[in-house]
Amino acid sequence: MKAKREAAARLTAALVLPAFREVLHRKYGVRPERVVFERDEALGRIRDAVLLPRAESAERGEEISGETDGETIWIMRDLDHEDTVDTLIHEAMHDSVFVVRETRGGRKRALTCEDEHDAIARAGIAV
Ligand SMILES: [Zn+2]
Repeated sequence: MKAKREAAARLTAALVLPAFREVLHRKYGVRPERVVFERDEALGRIRDAVLLPRAESAERGEEISGETDGETIWIMRDLDHEDTVDTLIHEAMHDSVFVVRETRGGRKRALTCEDEHDAIARAGIAV
């Protein structure tokens, strides 16, 4: 799908990291270097994204244009090209950015959906 290639090309660290770093610093004082973006995993989710089943697309088309459980991305059927690209980018930005502890080998912490949406909007992608 052409939209997948375009979404993957736009999903760069330059798009993602400044937005997440700004939001996490403003809200929680997180230092920028502690914010990491796992791009390869996000690109894999775009590559493997699937269309929502037709019945569910029809039923939920008013509420959502896509969703993810952190592993699989589902995209609504019959979106136009731009909406498909934006939805792929939006969903792939979920579960792709983490805050790591300062210590070596420290664990990474996932963000809340609300913080992710603040950063996604900050990056100029529709939420
Ligand atoms: Zn979302």
